[in-house]
Amino acid sequence: MLALFLSSSSYPTLSFLSRSVTLDPARRTTLSALTMSMNLRTHAYAGNPLRSRTPKSTDPFSPSSAFESLKTLVPEIPNHPKPSPDFKVLPFSKGRPLVFSSGGDANTTPLWHLSWISLADCKGMLASSGVDLSEDSLVYLGPKVEEDLVYWAVDLPEEDGVVVSEFAGRKLCFVDLRTLMVAADWADQRAMDELAIAGHARALLEWHNVSRFCGSCGGKTVPKEAGRRKQCSNETCKKRVYPRVDPVVIMLVIDRENDRALLSRQSRYVPRMWSCLAGFIEPGESLEEAVRRETWEETGIEVGQVVYHSSQPWPVGPSSMPCQLMLGFFAFAKTLDITVDKDELEDAQWHSREGVKKALAFAEYRKAQRTAASKIEQICKGVERSQSLSTDFNVESGELAPLFIPGPFAIAHHLISTWVDQGPGDIHSKQQPGVSLSSL
Ligand SMILES: [Zn+2]
Repeated sequence: MLALFLSSSSYPTLSFLSRSVTLDPARRTTLSALTMSMNLRTHAYAGNPLRSRTPKSTDPFSPSSAFESLKTLVPEIPNHPKPSPDFKVLPFSKGRPLVFSSGGDANTTPLWHLSWISLADCKGMLASSGVDLSEDSLVYLGPKVEEDLVYWAVDLPEEDGVVVSEFAGRKLCFVDLRTLMVAADWADQRAMDELAIAGHARALLEWHNVSRFCGSCGGKTVPKEAGRRKQCSNETCKKRVYPRVDPVVIMLVIDRENDRALLSRQSRYVPRMWSCLAGFIEPGESLEEAVRRETWEETGIEVGQVVYHSSQPWPVGPSSMPCQLMLGFFAFAKTLDITVDKDELEDAQWHSREGVKKALAFAEYRKAQRTAASKIEQICKGVERSQSLSTDFNVESGELAPLFIPGPFAIAHHLISTWVDQGPGDIHSKQQPGVSLSSL
């Protein structure tokens, strides 16, 4: 990751990859290792194992084939024989997936798991509160061919106390995705896979909730392709609507000497948390322009070179934005004087590499993870009701640390830790304008 940081110049990762084929085998191996370190699985919510590729429409696991099978099956449940592929459903309530907790004792941290239910169970649950299961209420998440399964998500009716208490009787509970994120062990691939699946499902369901009507004619929209898109039901309009993604640039601004990084605080942050600058991309703007504009607007600092790092889906923003895509950059400052835009930020300051290094207190993130995991266990047992996120973050802030940065589940953490690990030195002497991989 370090070499990529130093040498990729303005080339994004994709051209970085495509150029590697011209290199000699030894160099290619090195670059391959570097790109592996940039693998999407390094970020929470990326690397969803149900989404690696969508099966072709003729495949029984494809969205259209699975939906046709679902349509036949739903009215006949529970008398229909087990289909192939079979279906599993992940219920959500108010944006929270259904989970259970296992394995916690005096010496081990409990683990949370997504709680998949059968189609028959899903239909029975809804019927108990007077709701008919419709195939149109299920959204396709993807298949696991080796398990002969297709996975779906469903949003339960608002405030469905009957269903919630039915699940509670089985020690199953609906937990906020941010709490699940803090509670996930980021070194555990199984946990990160489940977090990515839950994130994708939440983004899709939220999008269905906020796209009920056509933006063109006001007609009702109906799900198509097993919930992967929608279409206006007005015959004279028929506008197609696709799931919304909101791109956001997030950047670590670095001084010319490569000794200090600019960190900022927003008023909504918990005390002592500092992070990277970030902002939405505007229409008609390149990524580099968005990085420079946002940095200047929020801090008055002018940015020169902009270097791409990686990206992260972020489905835990406000429900009006079902999924943000965080695009991470390093941005090299041309000026140092800070003028904070108080409407946007509480504060922004240059921080030394040593100071930032101290803030990367991994032990504290572990503590926060264990605390959040135990809290989920308590919620599932019906002991704890609160799902307050700030409590989790207060733990990770530690008792004495003057500042801390977001945990490993956030791209900001990886931008900052990459810079800290890179060490001191004049980055500009190593970074020639226009350098390409073929010249490395
Ligand atoms: Zn319309």
